[in-house]
Amino acid sequence: MEQKLYDTAIIGGGPGGYTAALYCARAGLSTVVVEKLSPGGQMATTDWVENYPGFPEGVNGFELGMKMQESAQRFGAETLYGEVTGLTLDSSPKTIAIGEKSLQARTVILSTGASPRELGLPGEQELRGRGVSYCATCDGMFYRDQTVAIVGGGNTAVADALYLARICKKVYLIHRRDTLRASRVYTEPLSQLENLEILWDSQVTGLLREEKLTGVQVTHKNTGETRDLPCQGLFVAVGNVPNSQLFAGQVTLTQGGYVQADETTCTNLPGVFAVGDVRQKPLRQIITAASDGAVASHFAEEYVSQNQKA
Ligand code: NAP
Repeated sequence: MEQKLYDTAIIGGGPGGYTAALYCARAGLSTVVVEKLSPGGQMATTDWVENYPGFPEGVNGFELGMKMQESAQRFGAETLYGEVTGLTLDSSPKTIAIGEKSLQARTVILSTGASPRELGLPGEQELRGRGVSYCATCDGMFYRDQTVAIVGGGNTAVADALYLARICKKVYLIHRRDTLRASRVYTEPLSQLENLEILWDSQVTGLLREEKLTGVQVTHKNTGETRDLPCQGLFVAVGNVPNSQLFAGQVTLTQGGYVQADETTCTNLPGVFAVGDVRQKPLRQIITAASDGAVASHFAEEYVSQNQKA
């Protein structure tokens, strides 16, 4: 079966992926984005983005994802919806399997992002969608006027607290240390929330359940004291893990599982680039992912022009 050959295949349609697609397509490269679900990646689950320039009032993350896709499409970038099941990255051209289908590409831009880290507690996976959530903006409305707990102390956890406090009756923020990691812009408004209670130096050590979540067991780190906290929802916001399993063994990964690539986005494999949250980098933001996408397009274009026959 003949496979379509693209100049560039981009795996993952987040801000890094679609910026790469925009730049590649605009530079005249035949470009396809392979996306599992919908444009925007993790950004699409963010209610309000305030730190992406050009939107003085802020912008909904899902809407921004759709706009990024439209920008790339305007220059001819295609989107193929499906889950990548296999990749051969060390050949020329490279092959990408999407279930029964496959395609070939001269260059591949890895932009698979990262997924929320789980707590690893017994019952956590079965309770997903039945009380345990990893996305406050997606699921918060299910807990209107109810009691919820959030685990974590970073920007996501605190942004979740600000969001959920507007919807829910009572919000607990459970953090394993006595200071938050989140930036001041997020932490400052916390003191004004009357329905928020922060449990410091505390960890969720168990999930209480009947058919659905009924509460969490919380253990104080210093005293070892344990208490049951009744709640209908638990929002887990303890960071992310890179989605790099698909190409482990082909591209070099860091100890944490991120793709090893510097500011050029070039990986150890010629013609393979890594952009956005899946790449090792100091700051994971929409704008740094978008910046990576532009940089990757430059090197992809260079690779294509030097390897025309591949
Ligand atoms: P994060 O910054 O890595 O924070 C994770 C938090 O979870 C930390 O407070 C950490 O505690 C805690 N934690 C980690 N593992 C845990 C465990 N097993 N049990 C309990 N607590 C645990 O993750 P994030 O908040 O999701 O943010 C990810 C990235 O996205 C960051 O770069 C962040 O700045 C960015 N982000 C930006 C925005 C924005 O600017 N608009 C919004 C959201 C996220 P410790 O503090 O003790 O390590």
